[in-house]
Amino acid sequence: MNLVFLGPPGAGKGTQANLVTKQCGIPQISTGDILRSAVANQTPMGVKAKRYMDDGLLVPDDVVVGIVEERLSSDDCVVGFILDGFPRTVAQADALKVMLQGAGRSIEHVISFEVDHSVLLGRLTGRRMCRSCGRGFHVVFDPPAETGVCDGCGGELYQREDDREETIRRRLEVYDEQTAPLKSYYEAASLLRKIDALGTIESVQLAIQNIIASR
Ligand code: AMP
Repeated sequence: MNLVFLGPPGAGKGTQANLVTKQCGIPQISTGDILRSAVANQTPMGVKAKRYMDDGLLVPDDVVVGIVEERLSSDDCVVGFILDGFPRTVAQADALKVMLQGAGRSIEHVISFEVDHSVLLGRLTGRRMCRSCGRGFHVVFDPPAETGVCDGCGGELYQREDDREETIRRRLEVYDEQTAPLKSYYEAASLLRKIDALGTIESVQLAIQNIIASR
């Protein structure tokens, strides 16, 4: 099962990808997570990507396409994958198509997380992440048992630099301008499946399960 999760920042793609990974055993490939880890490790790619990320802008296509190409060739992706946060531009979507065609593979569903921008600001400013394992929480919608502490590994929770209000506004603009056009791109290819991402974690999960089962 090869899936793409498409939607604005804060729509819940990461949370849901994590659940599908647990249920179906297919890996979640989050370009944002891979880039954050490169930034933390101060690799040459991380150093280059950091300024774009801090400004709420997209990292250049060639960098992210390279990341995904390398990741998709790993053994654990043979059973399938969930692309979470990629593609984000038409050029990335074209590159993905070529990459998959070359490997005799294709995307089965592009799940579009539909959510009104007005609610995203609240969702994003409440987001917290674990410094140790990267797990995401939300101070209101998905709080940890103990404030500031990861339920999974006991690590310290922190707010991402780009989850601050001004950067969030920029990221939403970037989404509208560069990523939202992918909806018609995938609609034209009959791959787009829209879900209401405003519901509870469980209701969104069910909607995704139904799409996967309808294959
Ligand atoms: P995310 O965690 O998916 O919200 O990604 C965090 C940041 O990483 C984004 O705001 C971008 O700066 C960068 N990024 C992640 N995925 C991509 C992508 N597919 N194309 C370009 N930049 C990306």
